[in-house]
Amino acid sequence: MMKQPEVLNFINGQFTKNGQKTMDVISPLDGSIISKLPLSTHNDVDTAVKAAQNAYPSWSAKTFKERVQIFFRYRTLLEENIDELTKLIQLENGKNYGEAKAEVEKSMELCEFAVSIPQIIVNEAQEVSKGVECRIERKPLGVVASISPFNFPNMVPHWTMPNALVLGNTMVMKPSEIVPLSTVRMAELLKEAGLPDGVFNLVNGGKDVVEAICDHPNIEAVSFVGSTKVAKIVYKRATSTLKRCVALGGAKNHLLVLPDANPDMTASNVVASMSGCAGQRCMAASVMVGVDKVQHIIDKMVVEAKKLVPGENLGSVISAEAKARIEAYISQAEADGAKILVDGRNAIVAGKEGGFYVGATIIDYVTTDMSVAREEIFGPVISIIRAKDLDEAIEIENGSNYGNAAAVFTQSGGLAKKVMERASAGMIGVNIGVPVPREPFSFGGWNDSKFGVGDITGRSSIEFWTQNKKTTIKWNPEAQTNWMS
Ligand code: NAD
Repeated sequence: MMKQPEVLNFINGQFTKNGQKTMDVISPLDGSIISKLPLSTHNDVDTAVKAAQNAYPSWSAKTFKERVQIFFRYRTLLEENIDELTKLIQLENGKNYGEAKAEVEKSMELCEFAVSIPQIIVNEAQEVSKGVECRIERKPLGVVASISPFNFPNMVPHWTMPNALVLGNTMVMKPSEIVPLSTVRMAELLKEAGLPDGVFNLVNGGKDVVEAICDHPNIEAVSFVGSTKVAKIVYKRATSTLKRCVALGGAKNHLLVLPDANPDMTASNVVASMSGCAGQRCMAASVMVGVDKVQHIIDKMVVEAKKLVPGENLGSVISAEAKARIEAYISQAEADGAKILVDGRNAIVAGKEGGFYVGATIIDYVTTDMSVAREEIFGPVISIIRAKDLDEAIEIENGSNYGNAAAVFTQSGGLAKKVMERASAGMIGVNIGVPVPREPFSFGGWNDSKFGVGDITGRSSIEFWTQNKKTTIKWNPEAQTNWMS
């Protein structure tokens, strides 16, 4: 794959190289080394925080309307560069062109929400006593941080950056060290759009950078997206130093399929949900609970899954370790007595033998005690559990520790409503396999899929990135009115 320039940190508007240790960036499409990135240290985080602190007074003093002008320009730059940004995502993450392009389009939509913030935040004021007014204004927090995972190199950083900045904060971002290229372009385009130096800073690296962010006394809030294991570590560590934190974790999403579901639409939706982005989506279907007689739908799913060809219409998974882990889950299910209806193990793509590919996999007759029923696999694999009725299906869904998404496929409004009410997940789909709420609705799960208050996008993120300032004013102190009048 095409080599890319060495990844550098972006601090105070400049790309900087400090002689840190480096790590290779590998394209999962063919396993080749395409770049390297710095493994930054506590000192690099400190330098970035100082730059963000210096930029904060003038940035936060601007009006919302002034700040959004930059994001109108930035959104246009995303649109103008969409083909290049799409190919960069493909190169570092391995997903299909269409999937990668949809990521950039979603980033544009996130910017559209951010530029609408001046229309949303009108603050509040009331004459609480005669001649006395109380008002509430939303004020930024200061320097904030955002930490992201490998599976959406462009979109997830845009869950946080546009809103946090438009609201007047300055930011230190740490992208996934596995996919650092997209955020470098993000920094370049923000500069081109006119963002003042120091408002947005990029510090590359791994665990050390995350720990330095959690511990830094001058960072006010940390937003994290990644696995549940690390989300717990980050949430505990960031809040132990008294920061505000929202940490999104992993998922095990259940799709409940009822016998009256539209067979073609359901089969294609379930397969698209489990296989899109090679199953590496926190919103991907991982378990299908087939209620009563759904064999005709499962038969159609098998046909759909067999249409997926690794390296053609099914992208790669992220690494050799991921491929090995996913295949081990499939083998374990087989050893546990489940039936493999479509087997994606040992996929090889001609001409890209070094790449990391797993074919679409459907496992039937999974029971709730098996690891494929309980753990996040994060590959193009779906486990089918059979349930006798909807109550049992809901009980199975409720039994998961996670709670990102759940969906029901049915023609019955009453049964759909029952799932909407009883599923233990933050995002529910009715006849939709990937129920991502679009802007302005906010994104966030329940249970072990999210720690902290509120969601990461939409109106909820406005709460997260701001604090309320309450002012009580007597405009005409000479008047004979007072607090209690
Ligand atoms: P990850 O948890 O391994 O890494 C996420 C971030 O944490 C990276 O920036 C990484 O450098 C850092 N990190 C890794 N180990 C760390 C440690 N021990 N201490 C401190 N920091 C550490 O996640 P990933 O593999 O990059 O991404 C996949 C996971 O993210 C899946 O579990 C997926 O479900 C989840 N995810 C969740 C959502 C959501 O909205 N809930 C969205 C996207 C991805």
